[in-house]
Amino acid sequence: MALSGIEIYKKLPKKNCGECKVPTCLAFAMSLAAGKAELSACPYVSEEVKTELASASAPPICTVIIGTGDSAFKTGGETVLFRHEKTFVNPPALTLLIKDTENNEVIEKKLASVNKFQYDRVGLLLKADLIAVKEESGNAEKFTALAKKVKEKTKAGLVLMSNNPKALEAALAVCKEDKPLIYSANKENWEILTFLAKENSCSLAVFGKTLDEVIDLTTRIQEKGVKDLVLDSGARTLSRMLQDQVIIRRAALLKKFRPLGFPTIVFPCQMTTDPMEEAVIASVAIAKYAGIIVLSEIKGETLFPLLLEKMNIYTDPQRPMAVKEGIYEINKPDENSPILVTTNFALTYFMVSGEVETSRIPAWVMVQDAEGLSVLTAWAADKFVAQTIAPFIKKSGIMDKAKHKRIIIPGYVSQILGELEEELPGWDVIVGPRESVHIPAFLKMWKP
Ligand code: SF4
Repeated sequence: MALSGIEIYKKLPKKNCGECKVPTCLAFAMSLAAGKAELSACPYVSEEVKTELASASAPPICTVIIGTGDSAFKTGGETVLFRHEKTFVNPPALTLLIKDTENNEVIEKKLASVNKFQYDRVGLLLKADLIAVKEESGNAEKFTALAKKVKEKTKAGLVLMSNNPKALEAALAVCKEDKPLIYSANKENWEILTFLAKENSCSLAVFGKTLDEVIDLTTRIQEKGVKDLVLDSGARTLSRMLQDQVIIRRAALLKKFRPLGFPTIVFPCQMTTDPMEEAVIASVAIAKYAGIIVLSEIKGETLFPLLLEKMNIYTDPQRPMAVKEGIYEINKPDENSPILVTTNFALTYFMVSGEVETSRIPAWVMVQDAEGLSVLTAWAADKFVAQTIAPFIKKSGIMDKAKHKRIIIPGYVSQILGELEEELPGWDVIVGPRESVHIPAFLKMWKP
């Protein structure tokens, strides 16, 4: 049973040293009890106490990793019910379903879609994360061959889906190093699948027709030593999916109910045959707690909005998205190319760089660290003013790249022109457009 903050506090070293990044042991104990800190953050806890507190300090929702290396996908590990309380940490995997009964042409097309529909957005690569390979043929060899093909043709992590333990065993023989998720243990096969998951050090999905059935299975499977579980509550309608996802999340976080303290898998692909409706169901699953979302196909018009929704919901609301301070080269600039300066708010940078790119005019875009704030906000907070821009320009090394001394500032901070010229003797400060959309026309007037 979960311990209270005070009970945990009694077992802590009480040095109040703050090394755990929390000022006092009591505050740390409270964070531990709320699942918002990890016991390993305190270097002074004895091994004996670590064992005692292991279950009390374990995250309320277990983190499960599927795949290895660059394709490793992490799900679970959430500590809050609502994003604004802190942040959601591990975005769900949009997962493509491929069945071994589909013809070769369809399979090839689906595999190509995973590689094709990938998007670079504010410095992040947005894409489908997993491929669920489903055995429907009753033929273990066919299933294994498909798993092998998927593994060879994409970098996505794998979910192996079959009701037949022998087919799963055969597929695991060729891809166990890739640490796929095994789907799924049910009340008939859970013992053999638990054995398979343990033998191959893989995570295991647990299917129950009801939440009670899921609870019973996760309790038994954990007793057998498999802890990396993913829950399928059997919901195959939107309303029940939403209800189950909320119940699971609330039970895990608010009641610390360990049998439901795992990430979940949902199947919009089995809830409708209409692709648009499937995307709508997936969008609900992204907002309400799913860890893995299985889709029947990948198409740009449905995948892209889902990826954006996922990115937005899983962005830390307390930290603006930012790019690294530095000089960015766009369209292969040379020593005569214009120099633009802006802030490191990711959206600002990508809008400015996107417009410069569209203009096809080579330019240097200088990005000053303004703690991820946009131009006007940073100026108002004294983080993008003459006294911050001038030192940045001087130490940036731009003079090794350009032989002129003319710098373009955003139109929104035209008021700093005089001050910036004083801080940067010998430089011409030019006021650029207010809106990035006008940058191409502005740059066309640039004379080296
Ligand atoms: Fe207390 Fe340990 Fe945190 Fe120090 S590091 S304040 S001893 S919990």
